[in-house]
Amino acid sequence: MRTIVFVLTAAGLASTAPAQTPLRTYSDAFIQRTGRTDPKVDYVVTVKDSDRTAYWVEMTMANPPDPARVAIPAWAPGSYRLTLGGRNIADFTAATATGEPLVVTRVDDLTWSIATNGAPRVVVRYSAAVRRAEEWARPNNRWFLRETSGLVDGPRTFLYLVGRTLSPSHVTFRLPAGWEIGTGLVPTTDPSVYWAPSYDVLIDSPALLGRFATFRFTAGGVPHRAVVDLNGGRPAFDTLAFVDMLRRISETAIGIFGSAPYKDFTYIYAGTGGGLEHLNSTTIGINLERMAENPRAHQGVTAHEFFHAWNVKRLRPAELGPFDYTRPVRTLNLWISEGITDYYTRLILMRAGLDSLPGFLEGVATAIAAHHRNAGRLTISPERSSWTTWDGPEANGGESLSYYLQGDLLGLLLDLAIRDSTDGRVSLDDVMRQLFDHFAGERGFTSEDALNAVNAVSGRDFQDFWRRYVSGTAEIPWDDAVRAAGWRVEFEPVRRPDARLALLGPTGPGGSPRVVVTPGSAAARAGMRSGDELVSFNGRPIGASGDLAAATRDLAVGDPVRVRILRAGVERGLSWAVPAYVEREARIVDLPTVTERARRLRAALLTGR
Ligand SMILES: [Zn+2]
Repeated sequence: MRTIVFVLTAAGLASTAPAQTPLRTYSDAFIQRTGRTDPKVDYVVTVKDSDRTAYWVEMTMANPPDPARVAIPAWAPGSYRLTLGGRNIADFTAATATGEPLVVTRVDDLTWSIATNGAPRVVVRYSAAVRRAEEWARPNNRWFLRETSGLVDGPRTFLYLVGRTLSPSHVTFRLPAGWEIGTGLVPTTDPSVYWAPSYDVLIDSPALLGRFATFRFTAGGVPHRAVVDLNGGRPAFDTLAFVDMLRRISETAIGIFGSAPYKDFTYIYAGTGGGLEHLNSTTIGINLERMAENPRAHQGVTAHEFFHAWNVKRLRPAELGPFDYTRPVRTLNLWISEGITDYYTRLILMRAGLDSLPGFLEGVATAIAAHHRNAGRLTISPERSSWTTWDGPEANGGESLSYYLQGDLLGLLLDLAIRDSTDGRVSLDDVMRQLFDHFAGERGFTSEDALNAVNAVSGRDFQDFWRRYVSGTAEIPWDDAVRAAGWRVEFEPVRRPDARLALLGPTGPGGSPRVVVTPGSAAARAGMRSGDELVSFNGRPIGASGDLAAATRDLAVGDPVRVRILRAGVERGLSWAVPAYVEREARIVDLPTVTERARRLRAALLTGR
């Protein structure tokens, strides 16, 4: 049973109901809210038959100001890293509708200024992508173009007219014969033309182009589909099991909030790597070999990205919107946006019948152990690691702790504390619904709003909990934390080869991944420092964390290690032999006596009922 309890004690929460809908009349849904003389921007994206090195873009501005400043974002919402921005844009020209060239001045890395001389229409042309061809052909899950397909990443493809990001746009795709379009953008009567109500929506709607497989299904009464890039081939995986997984994940997540907050949803599986959330779509990297073995291979990342349709795409930290594309934006609350999303990933898979109780508990125990052996847990609060996402480990004294991991565990901690203190009357599900109902609008939420929502839903005061575990770094008393569900956490020492080394993605344009060294580890004793750029590991070039994982996976005690690092621009070599060390593993086990109450609370957590 799901109960929504509105307790009127916390300030501001229950004052007024949120606006019902921004549409006031029938015709509102069909009208572009722009004045006749307002600037309007439309785009044509062309994939040339003979060219897979760039997307060629034509940007037509009606009624532009003079001068007209156009710019490319410095970062993409959801990925808190600076992109190469303006460096991806080349072949930039501007002309009037009749082809008369206009003078263009490059203002800075991200911005161009066009002297329009009062022309009523200005056409800007450019190519998007200046990466090397071989790099471009190696698809990541964000942006690529190759023989049989392409993925258009809005923030790196579409320039905006400065000051006019709320204007609607039409986008026309001109593609090689036989190519289709899979995107969350609004379709029109012309299958090659799509519509976006604003620039924010436009760049939050990636588009898969090419020959791909499409699977459609309904969840929560709403149309969903998956578009899957198969490299031009046919599906070599169990498509029924794949779609069954998608439907279960979609239904379960929609069930938590009661309804879907979009009119349709598109899962885009393309390229390699993780996933990125979008307004009514998500891009997820796909490994077709793993899919052939297990059609549910990507269920974890799928559930995570889909839960973002509520948590972060609509219910967002106040600082993240309206988007400021020109500079890094900091917030204390990524542990909620990402970490709580990880917690719900576990719950969704469990509740959807896609994970077992042992699998669920093993996942939680692995997270507890990873947290417990990271010394940063005692110095970096979840709010602090959220705030410093743009920085290297030096911002936190050389330590690094993921707000994904912290928020994942805080989700469990909070959920059990709420269920325990209310005898199972309410849960974190109710808090998420409460937050969504009140803050998934224009303003977003603050830390205080989140605490108030927990207090309002539970009728208890969680200020001390917040002080200890959210803004503070108190050690989590695990046995106390999970007792309400009849569990305890057993830590057990295990002897392992010491290959401890983590990689942090590049934090600036053009950077290499940098290492996070665990104090006392073999790498630290050999002289490696947090912040060093890792060039190679045992002769293997390192470009991403997957490369390092592959390089260290099979290391045994006594094996030699040789690394090349870059420190302050100077390359040097380090070597050592892999020693053994003792690591603590965790297991979640039943208490000697599991009470009826604990069974009830546990069952409610696992089933969502
Ligand atoms: Zn995420």
